[in-house]
Amino acid sequence: MIGFVHALFAMAFSRILGVSVLWSVIGSLLPDIDLLLPVQHRMITHSLVFVLAVYVLVRLAGRSRQGFALSFGMLTHLFLDSLTPMGIGVFYPLQNFFSLGFDASRAGYATILLSIIVIANQSRLRSFFKRFGGKKIKTGMRVSVIAWLIALIFWGGACPLVHSSIGYILSGLDGFSEKKVMTSGVVCSEIEKKFSKAGNEFQVFELCDGPDSLVVWKLASVERKDLNKGDHIIVCGLFTLKYLSSSGPEIYMVSKVT
Ligand SMILES: [Zn+2]
Repeated sequence: MIGFVHALFAMAFSRILGVSVLWSVIGSLLPDIDLLLPVQHRMITHSLVFVLAVYVLVRLAGRSRQGFALSFGMLTHLFLDSLTPMGIGVFYPLQNFFSLGFDASRAGYATILLSIIVIANQSRLRSFFKRFGGKKIKTGMRVSVIAWLIALIFWGGACPLVHSSIGYILSGLDGFSEKKVMTSGVVCSEIEKKFSKAGNEFQVFELCDGPDSLVVWKLASVERKDLNKGDHIIVCGLFTLKYLSSSGPEIYMVSKVT
C-alpha cells in the first residue's frame, strides 16, 4: 500500500486515541524503509521484532511517549500491508508471509474512505470515547474492526470467498483479468527460481488443467516451499492476461497454495 494511505490511516486513528500524530505518521512510513535497503521487501522491517526493537531503542533514549506513537504507527502499517495478497513477514525470522488476502486496490480505497470518515467525525468520536470510558472504547473498536473486515470480505473479494473460478483455467478465467481468483490444477513444469527487481525470490511454474495452462508466480516465502512437478494444488492470487510476460495468462501475488 502506498505511503499516503498509511499516513492518512495513522493520522486518523492517532488523533482519536490521543497518540502523537507526527510520530504515528512517521511510524506508519518507517517499515517501507526496506525499499532503500538491501533487504527483502516486506520482511524484517514489517515484523513484530522490528517494531519491538524500535520501541525499545526510542524508550532507552528516554522518549517513551514518542516510542509508543512510533510503534502504533508501525503497527497500523503492518496491519494495512497484511490485508494485501503479497502480505508481510510479520513473524520474522520465520520466512512465511502472512496475508489476509484482500484485493490490494480495494483495501486501499476502503482504508482511505474509513480514514476520511474518522477524521470528519473526530471530535464526536473523541468525546464518545471519553464519555463512555475504557470498556466502551474496546467494544466500539472491536465492532468497527469486525464491520470493516466484513465489508472488505464482501466488497474486496477475499480469496477464500471467490469460488466461481475453481475448476477453470483459461476458459473460466478470461473475464477475471486483474482480479483475485482461486483456481486449481496440476504443477506441470519444473519449478523455476526467479528474482524480482526488489530482490524477492519467486517460484515460477506452469499450472495445467486439461489442455489449459497458465504461469504462476509465487513468492518463495509464501506458504508451501516444497512444491514439486505433479502436485495438485489450489492457488489464490491475482489473475492477469498481460502482466509479467507476454506469453500468456498468469497468476501473480499468490497468497495461498494448498
Ligand atoms: Zn510496507
